[in-house]
Amino acid sequence: MSIQVAVNGYGTIGKRVADAVALQPDMELIGVGKTRPNHEAELAIENGYPLYAAIEDRIDLFDEAGLELAGTVEEMVEAADIVVDACPSGIGADNKSLYEAHDTPALYQGGEDADLVDVSFNARGNFDEATSADHVRVVSCNTTGLSRLLAPLQEEYGVEKARVTLVRRGGDPAQTGRGPINDILPNPVSLPSHHGPDVNTIFPDLAIDTLGLKVPATLMHTHSVNVTLESTPDADAVRELLDEQTRTFLIPEGAGIDGAGALKEFAMDRGRPRADIWENCIWSESVSMEGSDLYLFQAIHQESDVVPENVDAIRAVLGTADAAESIERTNETMEIGF
Ligand code: NAD
Repeated sequence: MSIQVAVNGYGTIGKRVADAVALQPDMELIGVGKTRPNHEAELAIENGYPLYAAIEDRIDLFDEAGLELAGTVEEMVEAADIVVDACPSGIGADNKSLYEAHDTPALYQGGEDADLVDVSFNARGNFDEATSADHVRVVSCNTTGLSRLLAPLQEEYGVEKARVTLVRRGGDPAQTGRGPINDILPNPVSLPSHHGPDVNTIFPDLAIDTLGLKVPATLMHTHSVNVTLESTPDADAVRELLDEQTRTFLIPEGAGIDGAGALKEFAMDRGRPRADIWENCIWSESVSMEGSDLYLFQAIHQESDVVPENVDAIRAVLGTADAAESIERTNETMEIGF
């Protein structure tokens, strides 16, 4: 019997996770939860995903919009083996008691606090730790991107200290109210930013300092990375190591990809759904060694890199596959890897 998965919150992350779950041979998407009958609710119906109302008082609004409901989110949670909560930051915490009341294990997203859950999760970093946990947080887009990079470096060379400056997009393309619109903000202005401590929820002993900025861009984040290694490989060896990883894409030298705009064009040209880029995009030419110091630039597509991680977290929690099997199955079904 396939894993019965519910997705509560069908926005930027939720709709992508729903599509990825629907592709999995060992999973069935039993429905998605929505608060209101907007264009995304219509999309769920068009995709054949049963639609459940998150707020009972608003059921009439769905009727008036001509959108058929399969029931309430509470009924969906009761029927599910696991629920993926993809509600806005903080709402996941509000929903926790609902999932507990129905004894349904839940995945939350990176906008929730780490102390809401038993385990924070990254498939490459700590897959096994999520097994049998009831409440698991798939870490944020930036922490996912850093974990995927730091895991192989730590295993292969040892990490003495990581220092990362995160140049973050002001908002997603559809977030018209976000900014800055014409500025470059140290954000947060005090150090370290929350990203380093968040990486420590995956690798508790890793020494890492992070600084954050926000810029008037919507497409992707860019990380400027310096990792002091415990050994001194040459840059080619590091490139090879990163190239062997399945969720890191080394942008080839000479590809003419100079930034997030070209990366998104690249993804569109290759027929990626929503121009999603699930992989860390590391500029091959930027990978440099100065003594034991590694330097590189990577771009992270904030709307999609956590999607395969959610799929893997489902199998990790329910113990239906080990890390290698799950990552391979997710990669194959989603066609991850350029
Ligand atoms: P979003 O606003 O695009 O989507 C959230 C959806 O949940 C919306 O459709 C909203 O109507 C719905 N919703 C609100 N309250 C609800 C409730 N009580 N029950 C059911 N649905 C409800 O938000 P998002 O960008 O998808 O973010 C979701 C989570 O993922 C947050 O924790 C965020 O921090 C995290 N995250 C976001 C990004 C990103 O770049 N967008 C990246 C990684 C992680």
